Amino acid sequence: MSTEKGVVQNIKAPTGTDLQCKGWHQEAALRMLMNNLDPEVAEKPDELIVYGGGGKAARNWESYHKIVETLKRLENDETLLVQSGKPVGVFRTYEEAPRVLIANAHLVPKWANWDEFRRLDKMGLTMYGQMTAGSWIYIGTQGILQGTYETFAECARQKFEGTLQGQLVVTAGLGGMGGAQPLAATMNGASFIGIEVDEGRIDRRVETGYCDIKCTNLDEAIEKALDAKEKGEALSIGLLGNVAEVLPKMLEKDVIPDVLTDQTSAHDLQLGYIPAGMSVEEAAEERELNPEMYQDAALDSMVTHVETMLKMQEKGAVTFDYGNNIRGQVADHRGMEEAFNFPGFVPAFVRPLFCKGSGPFRWAALSGNPNDIYKTDQAVLDTFPEKESLNRWIRKAQDQVQFQGLPSRICWLEYGERAEMGAKFNWLVKKGKVDAPLVIGRDHLDTGSVASPNRETEDMKDGSDAIADWPLLNAMLNTASGASWVSLHHGGGVGIGYSIHAGMVCVADGTEMADERLERVLTNDPGSGVMRHADAGYDEAVRTAKERGVDLPMVE
Ligand code: NAD
Repeated sequence: MSTEKGVVQNIKAPTGTDLQCKGWHQEAALRMLMNNLDPEVAEKPDELIVYGGGGKAARNWESYHKIVETLKRLENDETLLVQSGKPVGVFRTYEEAPRVLIANAHLVPKWANWDEFRRLDKMGLTMYGQMTAGSWIYIGTQGILQGTYETFAECARQKFEGTLQGQLVVTAGLGGMGGAQPLAATMNGASFIGIEVDEGRIDRRVETGYCDIKCTNLDEAIEKALDAKEKGEALSIGLLGNVAEVLPKMLEKDVIPDVLTDQTSAHDLQLGYIPAGMSVEEAAEERELNPEMYQDAALDSMVTHVETMLKMQEKGAVTFDYGNNIRGQVADHRGMEEAFNFPGFVPAFVRPLFCKGSGPFRWAALSGNPNDIYKTDQAVLDTFPEKESLNRWIRKAQDQVQFQGLPSRICWLEYGERAEMGAKFNWLVKKGKVDAPLVIGRDHLDTGSVASPNRETEDMKDGSDAIADWPLLNAMLNTASGASWVSLHHGGGVGIGYSIHAGMVCVADGTEMADERLERVLTNDPGSGVMRHADAGYDEAVRTAKERGVDLPMVE
């Protein structure tokens, strides 16, 4: 592995049972950090960028190597503090405390905007951690696949009698997370076009089985997609082009999608959205040379893009924002408030799941052995045989998802279910049914750990969208409960100024102490989601709290 800046890195997480660190909790943090930067996993590993525009795992290469060195020497009663991707201190704590605590990209609210962030970033003082990039629990595109699959499935249930078969889904952005859309759409039976400006990204999705074919010509893509729609066939097409140019052309041709969304990295006006008329290379040059002009051009294109989405919505397309803040960008910078005429995906499709403490539970096999994941899959199937959609998901994932980096899995589980699975996974490790410990975490697209008014907390029943006490409480609770590492981020998903959110990871190393830590963390973490939604007045959350015994003093 090279360590020089600008030289291609080739980081791979160690596998197997030989420890490089003094305990499994530190070892897991080390392996997951490295896994985040594995070229099979990360979108731009040379720049330490994992996914989501500029979402990084460490501030710079010097910090990365120092984190690795420090984790290797970290004692079992010490905690490493990481400030925006830089290891800044080691303190004596106690064995059941987290081994790592991470805070990424926080700014005092009055200064919490992209300009100030970029100024400080240029000075080397901060880092954008996105969600799972800077909290070291990204597992590749699979990480969002089930969420996207469930979102499309809920859209199908609400609008198309339960299936997307015979429907055309159109979106843009086939990056780290957006790349899950084609497979999630075809898993739901749809015909799909994903407009992507970077040909390499399309090739990557086709190579890894997330997307069926690439097209470089709009008419050819439309013909193939409409043919598949007509025949009720599932087909995903990665179409090379800029969405701000291609979508208006589709409108001109009166090709109106049945479902319309977007996952370009619109949250980041510099790194995330390529303006119309620019190649990827030209965009890289322009944003360096003329950042203000570049930002203006990106906004012009976003206005065209959102206007077209609104027109298509009027013509019947089921249209929603897919968590990239494109509505917020054109509303805040161009006064285009009508962007909010289409909803965000959380109020439209996901909130009922959040009310039950359901969220994206994920795990990775530190052994590196894919069979370990198949054994955990079986454990999930055996534990919840009655959950039909979960069973279908696990089987589809086994068939259709290629692992990236360490073998891993994700599935949405509710309050109570996550703790039950944690105990089973720890038993698998204890009994030697799997080759090495398992690491269990979650995304920050989650029930109790996020304040994000244009996404997870959009349109809360009690109007509490922007209240950010909840993710702070979640992070403190997970720390007190004994997670292996806990992180608190600013700006993930939707950009600086728009969100505060927390992450946690807990290791199942087969010990009794892990039994206790997992029970606490995997109960309390989703419990905080039930609490947050019950407090906001959602009946489903109040019912869940009552039925499952979540102690909420102010909720009747
Ligand atoms: P990414 O940066 O890896 O990918 C974005 C992709 O969009 C890139 O491939 C880029 O080439 C493409 N793109 C940019 N401008 C374009 C244009 N004008 N036309 C066509 N393609 C263009 O980001 P990601 O990890 O895929 O995340 C995408 C967005 O979705 C981010 O804003 C992220 O915060 C958000 N997100 C949503 C969810 C969710 O569940 N809804 C989860 C994670 C991230």
